[in-house]
Amino acid sequence: MSCSYADGLSPYDHKGLLGLPEQFDTSDKIEEKCKLLTQWILESRHVVFHTGAGISTAAGIPDFRGPNGVWTLEKQGVKPNINVAFNDDGYAKFIVSQNIDGLHLRSGLNRQSIAELHGNMFTEQCATCKRQFIRYSATTSVGQKQLGTTCPGSQISRRGCRGKLIDTILDWEASLPEDDLVMADYHSCVADLSIALGTTLQIVPSGNLPTFTKKYGGRLVIINLQPTKHDKKADLIIHSYVDEVLIKIMKCLQLDIPQYTEDLDPTKRKNIEIVEWNYLRVNVVDMKNMFNAHTKKFKQIKLEKKLKRKNEDEFKKEEKKCKDDHCEEMVKTEVVVVD
Ligand SMILES: [Zn+2]
Repeated sequence: MSCSYADGLSPYDHKGLLGLPEQFDTSDKIEEKCKLLTQWILESRHVVFHTGAGISTAAGIPDFRGPNGVWTLEKQGVKPNINVAFNDDGYAKFIVSQNIDGLHLRSGLNRQSIAELHGNMFTEQCATCKRQFIRYSATTSVGQKQLGTTCPGSQISRRGCRGKLIDTILDWEASLPEDDLVMADYHSCVADLSIALGTTLQIVPSGNLPTFTKKYGGRLVIINLQPTKHDKKADLIIHSYVDEVLIKIMKCLQLDIPQYTEDLDPTKRKNIEIVEWNYLRVNVVDMKNMFNAHTKKFKQIKLEKKLKRKNEDEFKKEEKKCKDDHCEEMVKTEVVVVD
């Protein structure tokens, strides 16, 4: 993650465990685990990816202003090596990202398929109407500060607004964007497979979301070099570089890896159009309904299992009681016979 981003944040003492040693699975182990994960992806109806800083470094974004940073390379006329893309029409139903570097947005991902819980350097938000818009360049501001520009909302809709634009990058302890958090929550609960990529899952609530999949009967897979907060809950852990695992998975799924192209990158649009970056209400409502139906069904199944267990226990108790009574009866009979 960008050093300048880290510098822009307020001082904070609770950054979680730092400098944990990295672990590496053997290549045979990685191969075997990737095959199993591919099988689980194929079996699943709702796969959600949870991405952290580890995916950006894997995608060739070590930082923003360093010798090989995105902006440094762009200034030199070199195309950044953003070579990992998610296909929102394919196996991934939704992405929950803690990253603020705009990787997913620039890969051409649809807004309806992603929650950006900590903000995005390539988006700005109106402090009044809360609508978000895609920027041409990354903001250097951090902490939802005013950018000195006004809301372009009235230019694209009848909904006039003179609100001030702010950056969307959260500072420590700032509230998470409500819509993004709600959508991330719904998708994580509805998912039957959550895959955490390149995150130690230490930041709350973002880091806890993958465990909601487990809570409602799904599988949790963690791909990370360092141990994570929820390793004990995981059905599968792959200790390897995220890009190496994704390349293997794509190969197993017989899919080509889409290359980065400026044509799909909304920050590189040629015309001066204003592009909104907001959820459609209909999608939020659809997800809410799906969440309600899924959790209701899960609770019902759980209740039925509990009742079944209770009935079985009662039956066993009854059976034991009958046996005991029978034995007692037999003993009495024997006693009578002996007499
Ligand atoms: Zn506005």
